[in-house]
Amino acid sequence: MKKTGWLQAVVLVGALSIASLAAAQGFYASTQSKKFHTEQCQAAKKIKPETLKVFKTKQEAETAGFKACKRCKP
Ligand SMILES: [Zn+2]
Repeated sequence: MKKTGWLQAVVLVGALSIASLAAAQGFYASTQSKKFHTEQCQAAKKIKPETLKVFKTKQEAETAGFKACKRCKP
C-alpha cells in the first residue's frame, strides 16, 4: 500500500515537470526593448539570455509595462 503511494508521487512529479516545460513557452520580451514578441518572431530570437523575460500570457507582459511588437503581433 505504501509502495503504491510512493509510485503515485513519482508520477505526479513527472506530470508537474512536463507542465512546467509547457509553461516555458509564451511571450518573449527584452528588458532593454520594452516590447514583447511571440516565440517565432525574429526579434525574439535575437534577445540575449541575460535580458530575456518570458511571460505566460499577453496580459502578464502588458501589466509589466511591455507593448506588443508590431511585426509579430503577439
Ligand atoms: Zn516581434
